[in-house]
Amino acid sequence: MRSSTTAEIRQFVQERFPQFGLNKQKEIVRLLAEIDRRDHCGFDAILLERHYEQKDFLAIKSFLLKRRFPTLTATERASVTYLPCDFLKVQQPGPEAPGEGALFQPKNIYVEKSVSDCGLAERLSCAFPEARVSEIDRYKDFVSRQPEFDLREYNQRLDNVFIIREQFDFFQECPCSAGASSCGYHIMNAGFGCGYDCEYCFLQGYTNAPGILFPGNLDEFFSRFREYYRPGMRLGTGQFTDSLMFDHITRFSSELVGFFRQFPDVVFEFKTKSCNIEHLLRSPASPNIQVSWTLNPERIISSVEHKTASLQERLDAAVQCAKAGFRVGFHFDPIIIYDGWQKEYGELIKEVFNSISVEGIGWISLGGLRMTKTLRQVIEARFPHGLLLNAEQIMETDGKIRYPVRVRREIYRTMIEKIKASGYSGELYLCMEDPELNREVGIRSFGCGRAAPCAG
Ligand code: SF4
Repeated sequence: MRSSTTAEIRQFVQERFPQFGLNKQKEIVRLLAEIDRRDHCGFDAILLERHYEQKDFLAIKSFLLKRRFPTLTATERASVTYLPCDFLKVQQPGPEAPGEGALFQPKNIYVEKSVSDCGLAERLSCAFPEARVSEIDRYKDFVSRQPEFDLREYNQRLDNVFIIREQFDFFQECPCSAGASSCGYHIMNAGFGCGYDCEYCFLQGYTNAPGILFPGNLDEFFSRFREYYRPGMRLGTGQFTDSLMFDHITRFSSELVGFFRQFPDVVFEFKTKSCNIEHLLRSPASPNIQVSWTLNPERIISSVEHKTASLQERLDAAVQCAKAGFRVGFHFDPIIIYDGWQKEYGELIKEVFNSISVEGIGWISLGGLRMTKTLRQVIEARFPHGLLLNAEQIMETDGKIRYPVRVRREIYRTMIEKIKASGYSGELYLCMEDPELNREVGIRSFGCGRAAPCAG
């Protein structure tokens, strides 16, 4: 059965519950729409199936909340506060994301004057001879003259590449999340924008860049690094882009490996969902350079992480990097739960440790699916039929929509137990979780975050 449109549901609710005000009607519409989207049961059947008394709003809402969030407790259901306020956006279907397989074939390459003679500009022009190359004064001025950014432009982002001269934000501390235990990570802003289309990607709701940005002045990052350098620091490029998906064109990996090998007390991380390691492997490995893969069961990769490498391709790439002498790492983040998730994540963990020896692993992180309200609205517009929208999540105190803490505790305990059972006792940390939850699952902080008992 097809899912009904929001307009159909709204009309039904207006006719059936004329006594309720607009906000109450919106709440009912939203819940009916979410249940119908997940169960394809027909919105009118949802209420009829219980022959519900139509006058008591709270009773109707409670029934619908229970039906929409069957595994949550009553207290948790009371925290589903994001529902009514997101409703208006849902009424207006947004531009859905382009389908699978769109290649990176930019139509326009814009180069800031101050970096027009950089090697990257030349490499991009040669790699894409059909693209129109234009010189611009400053990216910021250029963008300010463009029409207002919307999701249509986000969907077209791979058409445009901007080579800019970064002047301010060379490095920054990872902002983490309010009230969470920080792992002390640092971000190197060597690229902004990604060609993959993970349904949960925060960039969708964050960026207003109408293209992919690369710095043409990587050398300036290197000269600035000494200001940021701290012994023992961990940093990487995978926050605002995938660290390797464009590497066959940018060839940044060789420059980054060459530079950071001079700082053996710093760990530099490439974070990726690609298997684009050919150029990286041309550089001699260094034990302080780590290549990390975000991992999920293949079911999630193929349905949610669009255009990325398959699980097998990622693991094969990890094996090659480990053999070459790089450290490798794994991020089980975001963990997404569904019927049978324990079994499939258990098999995934086994596959990882069957492929990679524990000694070669620098760190492993865990994080549950989370999103801001803005991001959820974007997902509803771009991936309206995706499975993420069916998750039973609530608004948490840090302003993010997450699984309730009871569920996250179970997720982390399950994952940690399986990881420890595989013989791993190295660095293991939770991403964006508060100190209490860290403590409850046996993790304190990075550097003292071993799943094994810690003396610190
Ligand atoms: S790989 Fe990372 S940056 Fe790229 S779309 Fe996926 S989540 Fe976003």
